[in-house]
Amino acid sequence: MPQLSDHSLVPANIRDLSPYVAGKTIEEVKAAYNPPEISKLASNENRMGCSSLVRPAVVKALEEVQDYPDPVAQQLREALAQQNNVSPENIIVGAGSESLIANLCRTFFDDNEHAITADATFVGFFVQINIRGVSLKKVPLTSDFRFDLEAIADAITSETKMVYIANPNNPTGTYVTKTEFERFMHRVPDHVLVVMDEAYYEYAESVADYPDSLQYDFDNIITLRTFSKAYGLAGFRVGYAIASPKIIGNMMKTKLTFEPTSLGQEAALAALQDTAFLRKSNKRVQEGKKRLYTFFEKRNVSYVPSVANSVLIQLRGEQQAIDFVQAMLEEGVILRRVHAFGLPRCVRITIGRKKEMDHFVHAFGKVKSKIS
Ligand SMILES: *Cc1c(COP(=O)(O)O)cnc(C)c1O
Repeated sequence: MPQLSDHSLVPANIRDLSPYVAGKTIEEVKAAYNPPEISKLASNENRMGCSSLVRPAVVKALEEVQDYPDPVAQQLREALAQQNNVSPENIIVGAGSESLIANLCRTFFDDNEHAITADATFVGFFVQINIRGVSLKKVPLTSDFRFDLEAIADAITSETKMVYIANPNNPTGTYVTKTEFERFMHRVPDHVLVVMDEAYYEYAESVADYPDSLQYDFDNIITLRTFSKAYGLAGFRVGYAIASPKIIGNMMKTKLTFEPTSLGQEAALAALQDTAFLRKSNKRVQEGKKRLYTFFEKRNVSYVPSVANSVLIQLRGEQQAIDFVQAMLEEGVILRRVHAFGLPRCVRITIGRKKEMDHFVHAFGKVKSKIS
């Protein structure tokens, strides 16, 4: 049979991509190493699960699963509009914020226009920009692992269409301050869309100088939020964007018609009601972070203070990071290397339940010689 040549099959921007490599699953770790317990601290999910209101809502929604979902997710948009003090026409709901990032990439770029972001941030943005074949300027993080908004503003030209800022950032857990954001917004020309990816908003909103992008009245800001992290609904794939009606209206033209699923829409509506769950799991995350900071300080491990639900540590080199993650895996603790995010010497640790953090601390004690 004649072989398809990769060169004629796909353009270079697709040839150069690699498929997403997820963190190891619990089943895979069990099969490979059979450790007595397994703690999955690799994907910034909510280890406390999700609101107990979700299950009955989803079971009820199963009765109508033969019908297509509401393509504009009207009920969910209304609930989100009320919660965020905006109107439903300011909101679009998609299958996770990753889907909305893809939507932004396919909707707004004309020939020759480019995007700007940091050199170490959410890998999903790098991927979607490459799929669209848009060129991307990556500006180095500051020495304390934060977005450098002054340098990003300096890099803007008349052909810049979009700036992507994850705030808090993944994988660093750091944030840009109100002052930095305000100064930045006053430097950004109107033709530049400023995408504020606030996937970890619920963990950061109480930080005094954290800028909630919805509080700023600029028509070129696009706020992305998700039910995947603090709400604990990553499996349902529901995220949303909030922006001016002009921006949302154009995204509505290019969205995949029936996302997210009807079950996802109902799960999100139920989860929104349960602020007590959010508070409780947020408290656990804050406790878990404090414990890790103390633990790392005692052992002279270099870590980055975080306002999200993960903590980044920096090892001496890339090989140490590889060895450390492997040794922890054999102990049943699944962690995330973040080389694809731009930080080859670093490892990201999701904050889990107390039992999982006990496991992390115990396993770390056993393998620490590997990272010295
Ligand atoms: C996890 C994450 C997302 C993806 O969220 P989904 O809604 O599950 O697609 C987007 N942005 C950042 C910064 C993230 O960390």
